[in-house]
Parts: sequence; structure tokens; C-alpha cells
Amino acid sequence: MINSNTHEYIEFYEGTLPIILSAPHGGEILPKEIKTRTSGVFEKDDYTKELTLEIIKEFEKSLGKTPYAVIASISREKIDLNRKKEEAFEDKKASKIYDRFHNLIKFSKNEVEKKFAKGIYIDIHGQSHPHNYLEFGYMLDNSTLNLHETQLKEYQEQSSIKNLAKFSKQSFFNQLKGPFSMGSLMTNLGFDSVPSVKLPYAADNNYYEGAYNTYLHGSLDKRNISGIQIEFPYVNCRDTKENRQRCAKAFVSALTKFLEVHLEVNFPKIDCFEQNL
Ligand SMILES: [Zn+2]
Repeated sequence: MINSNTHEYIEFYEGTLPIILSAPHGGEILPKEIKTRTSGVFEKDDYTKELTLEIIKEFEKSLGKTPYAVIASISREKIDLNRKKEEAFEDKKASKIYDRFHNLIKFSKNEVEKKFAKGIYIDIHGQSHPHNYLEFGYMLDNSTLNLHETQLKEYQEQSSIKNLAKFSKQSFFNQLKGPFSMGSLMTNLGFDSVPSVKLPYAADNNYYEGAYNTYLHGSLDKRNISGIQIEFPYVNCRDTKENRQRCAKAFVSALTKFLEVHLEVNFPKIDCFEQNL
């Protein structure tokens, strides 16, 4: 069963898995009582709210369990929930909405730590770069991703998955772009991704490394929930309901495998793995 409630333009889904999803930029409600922002980025990440809902449904269908999820239904024109509070809104009436979004992520992290001791936080976005890759962000820029393994390891402390090393037997390099990295797992399911074995960095330099939410809610806070930002391209991932469902199915397979390998979480087998990996 999926438990959810909506209040103050933020939807909250109470989960049963050590996974927390957030989608800050997919909302479209424009409450008249809150002043529109005049500076910053206003662009909506189209259909990321719908894609996140498909991911929740796919978890329910394949595992009978669901992730925690915090989803904005308010427009980014009113509040940017992936920025520091001082930069997120211009009308102080938006303050309560901002706090609710971030407090629900913090609440979910506490619940996951209480129940599972460890987990993963994923901040879901949509990008419009000319390439059609998924971009996985770990708070490391594109030139850092391109470093040799021994040099790359020096950046582990700056990464939003730095504490994955407490649980994963794989090297930091392999957590980011080895065969069982999120990028490679999605690539194997037909969704080319950066970084991965196939595309270790963005050759055209179009790459989002992660922003405030990934920085704040990932394991840079020294706790045991690592954070990854995902930027889904429009074509094949967000553009039609059918593609969102197909992408959600691959994503659930990839994330489940990622958690099995790196966090030693055991799940019942999912069909998709058997066919494709
Ligand atoms: Zn975004």
C-alpha cells in the first residue's frame, strides 16, 4: 500500500525501503498569495513529478514495498527547493513550504537510519542538454570524473556518497563508474548515462554534478545515507507516459541492484535483471 499526504504544496510518501526520493522542480501550482521570484532559474523540470510517481508505483509493483518520497507540486517560479533558504524565495510566505520540504527529507532520513541503519537519497531532476544521457551527480565536477583512479580517490571526501565506502566492498572509482555504478546499471538497461563504464565523463562537458539538496542530504553530513542527483533527459525518460513507465522500471531495477551491491540490502529478484544483466 502507498501511504501519502499532501499539505502546503508538498506531497509526502511514507516509505518501507531504505530509499528516499525527492523531486523539487516538477510542480506547476502558482499560488496567487505567494510573490513570483524575480531572479534565478525558473524552468520547470517537466514531468519529473510524474516520473517520480511512476518510480514509486514500480517499486510497489515489483517489490511490494515503496521508497520515501517528497515531491513539490508548487512551481519553481514561486520557490526553488534546490537552493539555500536565503536564495530559494523572495516572499516570506514561502518559508513554511521550504521548511516542510526539507524537514520531510530529514524526517525520512531519520526513519531510514532508525529502521535500516543506512540508505540512499536521490534528488530527481530533468535536464535539456543536447546529448540524451542520464547524468548522475555526486558533487564532483566533470573534470574530476575524468581523473585517473588513484587521483579520483582523493575526492571521495568531497562526494555526496563518501560514506558508501563504510558498506560497499567496491572501490570509490567503481561506486561512481564501475560495472555496478548507477550509470552503468542504467546503461545496461538501455539508458546511456554519465558517469559509467561506457561514458566515464561527459565528452561535451554538459554535466550537472549535483546541487544544494544532494550536498545537504547526502553523506557529506557524516551520516549513513548517501546522496545522488539524477538528471533525466526529456526524450525516452520524461516525454510520454509509456516512456516514463519504461524508464521507471529500469530505474527501479538499477537502484535495487545498486543497493544490493553497495549497501548489502537484500531484495527479492526482479525479472528485469534476469533478462538484461
Ligand atoms: Zn531541477
